[in-house]
Amino acid sequence: MLRAVSTGIERRPLHTPFRISRGSRTQIELAVATIRQGDVIGRGEGSVTGRYGESVESVGEQLRAIEGLLADGIGRDELRRLMPPGSARNAVDCALWDLEARLGVSQLPAARPVHTALTLGIDTPEAMAAAARKLKGAAIVKVKVDGREPEACLRAIRPEVPGSRLVVDANEAWTMAQVEALQPVLAELDVEFLEQPLPAADDVALDGFKGLVPTCADESCHVTADLDRLATRYQMVNIKLDKTGGLTEALDLLAGARERGLGVMVGCMISTSLAIAAAFRVAVQADCADLDGPLWLEQDRPGGIRMGEHGLMHPPEPGFWG
Ligand SMILES: [Mg+2]
Repeated sequence: MLRAVSTGIERRPLHTPFRISRGSRTQIELAVATIRQGDVIGRGEGSVTGRYGESVESVGEQLRAIEGLLADGIGRDELRRLMPPGSARNAVDCALWDLEARLGVSQLPAARPVHTALTLGIDTPEAMAAAARKLKGAAIVKVKVDGREPEACLRAIRPEVPGSRLVVDANEAWTMAQVEALQPVLAELDVEFLEQPLPAADDVALDGFKGLVPTCADESCHVTADLDRLATRYQMVNIKLDKTGGLTEALDLLAGARERGLGVMVGCMISTSLAIAAAFRVAVQADCADLDGPLWLEQDRPGGIRMGEHGLMHPPEPGFWG
C-alpha cells in the first residue's frame, strides 16, 4: 500500500438560508478526501448536489469504493475512467492534485486574486433591492431569479448597483416564451449574460436562438463531452468542479469550450475554501468568476480565501492547498 486514504461526509451550516428557484437550504453536505503519501498530505472537497441525483449515501458509497485503489496508487486519469463525474470524484481528484503538487510531480495552474460575483438569493423585489444596496461597488453581482417576477426583481436591483457587471441566473425556471420576452429587459438593464433559463432537458429549444444577451449553460453542461450538443444552444458555459468531477476534467472542459469559441464562467456550489482553492486555478482563465460559496457559511476552514474590496477574492494562503 502506497498511500493512506480517508474519506467521508462533512456537514456545515449556512449563516443565512440560501434561496434559488429550486428551493431553500440551511446547511451543506461535503464529500472530503485526504490522501497521505509518506509525510505529505493532499486534501480535496466536493459538494453533494441533489439536483444531480446525489445523496450523502450515494456519495459516501462512491468514496468508500475508491479508497482501496487510491491507496494502491491510482492516478487522476484512471479515476476519470472509474468514477462518474460528481462531488465524490471532485474531492478525490483535488486531493490527488494537492498531493502531486506538494510532492512536486504535477504543476498546478497559478492562482491570483479574481473579482468574484456576489450572489443575491431570491426574495421580493424590495428585499432584493435592499440586499443589492449592501453590494454597492461590487464588480459583479449575480441575481438568482425564478419564473414569477424576474423583471420586477431586476428592475428593482439595477439602480442599486449601477456600475456593476450584472449576471442573471434562472436555474432552469423559465419557459422559452419568457426567454424571448425578457431579452429587451436584459439588454436594457445591461445584463452581461443569462444563465440556464430552461430546464436542462428542454434546452433543445435554444438551438439556433440568438438573444440580445448571451445565454450560459450551467445545469446543462457537466463535462467536455457535452460541448458538441451545447455549442449551437449557448454562447457560454459555467464550469463547476462538482459537475466535472474535479480539476482534471475542468481544465479539459475549459480548453474544449475555448476551441469552440464559447465564453467561460467558473462557478461553485456552496463549499469551503478547500473547494474554491482548486476552482481558482480555472477561474483565473475564465471570463467571469462566481466563487462566493464560502461567504454563505457560518464558518470556513482556517487559512482560506480572503475578500478585498468590490468582491476581489484572494486565494487561500500558500500551503493551504496545492
Ligand atoms: Mg447557475
